[in-house]
Amino acid sequence: MASITFDHVTKRYDNGFVAVEDLNLTVADREFLVLVGPSGCGKTTSLRLLAGLETLSQGNLYIDDRCVNTLPAKDRNIAMVFQSYALYPHMTVFENMAFGLSLQGVPKSTIAQQVRQAAQQLDIEPLLDRKPKELSGGQRQRVAVGRAIVRHPAVFLMDEPLSNLDAKLRVQARAELSKLHRQLGTTFVYVTHDQVEAMTMGTRIAVLNQGILQQVASPQVLYDRPHNVFVAGFMGSPAMNFLPARLRLEAGELRVVTASLNLPLDPDLADRAAGYGDREVILGLRPESLYDPAHQPGNLALVPLKAEVTVVEHMGNEAILYLTLADGQEVVARVSPRSQFTVGETVTLGVDSQRVYLFDQTTELAI
Ligand code: ATP
Repeated sequence: MASITFDHVTKRYDNGFVAVEDLNLTVADREFLVLVGPSGCGKTTSLRLLAGLETLSQGNLYIDDRCVNTLPAKDRNIAMVFQSYALYPHMTVFENMAFGLSLQGVPKSTIAQQVRQAAQQLDIEPLLDRKPKELSGGQRQRVAVGRAIVRHPAVFLMDEPLSNLDAKLRVQARAELSKLHRQLGTTFVYVTHDQVEAMTMGTRIAVLNQGILQQVASPQVLYDRPHNVFVAGFMGSPAMNFLPARLRLEAGELRVVTASLNLPLDPDLADRAAGYGDREVILGLRPESLYDPAHQPGNLALVPLKAEVTVVEHMGNEAILYLTLADGQEVVARVSPRSQFTVGETVTLGVDSQRVYLFDQTTELAI
C-alpha cells in the first residue's frame, strides 16, 4: 500500500521563489500519476519534496496515512529514477543495481538473486558485467530503472527518464514502463514536460503551471473537458486554436461569432454559456475539428471557414495545415493525408460546431 497526499503543500526556495504553491493532490495506491507542465512549473520540486530531497515550506505530505514532512529520504521506501540516470561510472551494471541493497545490509545471496530477477525483467542480463560507458542510452535507462526496482519500493518516482532517448526508443520505453507498472503493481509518480508521454502513460495526469496545479484528471477528460485555457492549450498536438469571439443571441439561439466564423452552440454548451449574455469570450477549436470538405466523415454539419494556406506538413497518416484567416488570425488544422492543398491557395474548410470550446476571457476558465 502506498497512497500519497500533498495537503496544501508550498515550497519556497531560500531566494524567496515559490516553486510549488498550495498543492493539493492525492495519488491512489498503485496509480500511475503523471505530473506534466512546461519547464520550470515545479514538477521536479514536487517530486523532490516527495522523495525527501527538499523540505516543505508549508503544508503536509503523507505517504499512506503517515505524515512524512520530516522523515529522512532513506526511510520513505521510495525509489527515484533521475533524468541523468545518475549511474556510478566506476561500477558495473550489477554493482550499480546492487548498491542500494548493499547499503541496507541485505545478504549477498539475496542481492544477487534480486538483481538477476530485475535484470531478467528488463532484459539487461547480458549487460550485468559492463560499465555504464559501455551501454547505449536505452540500456542505461533500463539499468537506472533496474536499480530502482531491485529494492521493491512502495513508490517509484521518475523524473523525465526518457528524455535522453531518441524518438523511436522513447516510444518503446514508454510501453515498457507502462507494462512494468502493471507487473509491479506499485504506485508510480512520473514527471515529464511532454504531453504525449503524459497522455499515453498516465492513469491520471496532474497539469502544473507556474507552481500551481491546474487540473487533475484522466487523459481523456483532460483532453475533452479542459478546465481552462492553459490545460486546453497544453494537452494536444498541434495545440488547440484560440480565437477572440463574442456570444450573440440570434433568432433566439445563442451563437459564437468571430471575425470569420458564426457557429451555433450545442444545447449543453448553450446552457452553460447562457449566463454570459452578449459577452466577449475565447473560442477554442482543436485542429481536428477543422475538416477538408472533400474528405469529411459522414454527415457532419460543417460551418465553412475560409483561409489561406501558409504551410502544409505531410505526416503520412495526416496532414497539418497552417492557415491565415481573413482577419489575420492564424489557425492550424489536422486534415486527411489525401487532401490536396498547396501553399498560397485560399481554401474553405469545414468547422464541426459540435466540438467547440468556450472560455471566459477574464478568468480563462472553461465555460
Ligand atoms: P524542468 O522541466 O525544466 O525540469 P520543472 O517543472 O521540473 O522544470 P523545477 O525544477 O521544479 O521545475 O523548478 C521550479 C522553479 O523553481 C523554477 O523556476 C526553478 O528555477 C526554481 N528553482 C528550482 N530549484 C531552485 C533552488 N534551489 N533555488 C531557487 N529556485 C529554484
